[in-house]
Amino acid sequence: MPKTDSSRGTAPEVPRTRVLVVGGGYVGMYTALRLQQKLKPELRSGRTEIVVVTPDPYMTYQPFLPEAAAGSISPRHVVVPLRRVLGRCRVIVGEVKSVDHSKRTATFTTLATEEEGTGAVEITYDELVLAPGSVSRTLPVPGLADHGIGFKTVEEAIGLRNHVIEQLDIASSTRDPAIRDAALTFVFVGGGYAGVEALGELEDMARYAAGYYHNVTADDLKWILVEASDRILPEVGEEMGRYTVSELRRRNIDVRLRTRLESCEDRVAVLDDGSRFPTRTVVWTAGVKPHPVLAATDLPRNERGRLKCTAQLAVDGAPHAWGAGDAAAVPDITAGEEGKECAPNAQHAVRQARVLGDNIAASLRGEPLTDYAHEYAGSVASLGLHKGVAHVYGRRLKGYPAWFMHRVYHLSRVPTVNRKARVLSEWILSGLFKREIVSLGSLERPRAEFELAAGGNPPGSPPSHPPRDPKGST
Ligand SMILES: Cc1cc2nc3c(=O)[nH]c(=O)nc-3n(C[C@H](O)[C@H](O)[C@H](O)COP(=O)(O)OP(=O)(O)OC[C@H]3O[C@@H](n4cnc5c(N)ncnc54)[C@H](O)[C@@H]3O)c2cc1C
Repeated sequence: MPKTDSSRGTAPEVPRTRVLVVGGGYVGMYTALRLQQKLKPELRSGRTEIVVVTPDPYMTYQPFLPEAAAGSISPRHVVVPLRRVLGRCRVIVGEVKSVDHSKRTATFTTLATEEEGTGAVEITYDELVLAPGSVSRTLPVPGLADHGIGFKTVEEAIGLRNHVIEQLDIASSTRDPAIRDAALTFVFVGGGYAGVEALGELEDMARYAAGYYHNVTADDLKWILVEASDRILPEVGEEMGRYTVSELRRRNIDVRLRTRLESCEDRVAVLDDGSRFPTRTVVWTAGVKPHPVLAATDLPRNERGRLKCTAQLAVDGAPHAWGAGDAAAVPDITAGEEGKECAPNAQHAVRQARVLGDNIAASLRGEPLTDYAHEYAGSVASLGLHKGVAHVYGRRLKGYPAWFMHRVYHLSRVPTVNRKARVLSEWILSGLFKREIVSLGSLERPRAEFELAAGGNPPGSPPSHPPRDPKGST
């Protein structure tokens, strides 16, 4: 197995200390940023090196995904280019496959290793930050893997936007009432903020877009939210959760509590209350689980698969390994309750990253470490343009004030002044002009037209490139 020390290009000497950061999301990016600030002299002299390995060259600001799906923010402005913000770090676009902490080594693949057919390469490190986040927590629901789509990435958000608009086009042009009905039925499973915000924004966008069709009205659209527990949006508290249910129902959204999706085979969503909905859209947002790469490490995990961490964000019993964010079980020392962990959300991830960066710098300098302590401040959620709900520091807001607070809060949080300016200008422009209602689904098959012109795959034959929607939703 080749060593990456050789892949370091022209660097002549091996730096004394290498900090390997796995993941370029909230925790990975903010930890690397903090380390860049804290370890300036060490980085300048080459005594320390920070290497970030992550599958995409950008960090995704996930709370903006619903607005990206609604077309209020361009996809490019929902992501932060890592190479630009982490100028003193080495960013490797790749995927960590395993970690052997006893030997201080990790393996990873990149597009180049795939091309070269060399398999995973090995990298050594002195300090490890393991922050691969989480993946959708799925259940063995028949048909889900074939027809469902998640809502965690910018690709999913934009794919879903294109897909929803395309359904209006299908409904508008078909003569078959069954096809029309299925195209206009949208099923969302899971009532946390990802599901509720995605549904709220997309319903709002589709309702607006329907106004531009001669034969589709907003009342023809059927939106269903399926939630297994007896409440939605637990992040904003019980009262605001109840308000959200009534607000969504007021908009004709069919909210079904204490209900589960049993199957979505053959494009029919079957619920455990006996109802059946022919649909071309099943969005799965029923929670997250720690990233499976954690199982390919020799580091301790708890019963739910999260990395066992101390309040100082060190991996329990594994010196020089650190963890935070969705992947880590960090004790919530503000809860006053034994065994309580910090919830997997950005509020904790971003604050943990700051403490984590400080603690690694302190540990390298032999200084004392700090405990992570943050009392959950509450949450804000957007339910579409000018609609929202919030419960922050004990204050409850709904409707326009909550939506406004949501925008102000996230504008203050989205990284870099550059992103803030771009997002703000998009919001201002969308306030002045009409909303965008086109589907750019064809961007997902850029070669289709040329293939046809070049006599390649005629329409209807199996494509030589990935199909437009691998989830089978179009
Ligand atoms: C739609 C949506 C809306 C949300 N809204 C809110 C909100 O309003 N408020 C809030 O507090 N939280 C919100 N969250 C949750 C929040 O985004 C997460 O809690 C936060 O992103 C967790 O940070 P993280 O660094 O642990 O993981 P992530 O930010 O997911 O980062 C993980 C990184 O690791 C990378 N990675 C994965 N596997 C590997 C590998 N094998 N090797 C290398 N890198 C790897 C990933 O590509 C990613 O870059 C929302 C989430 C979603 C999906």
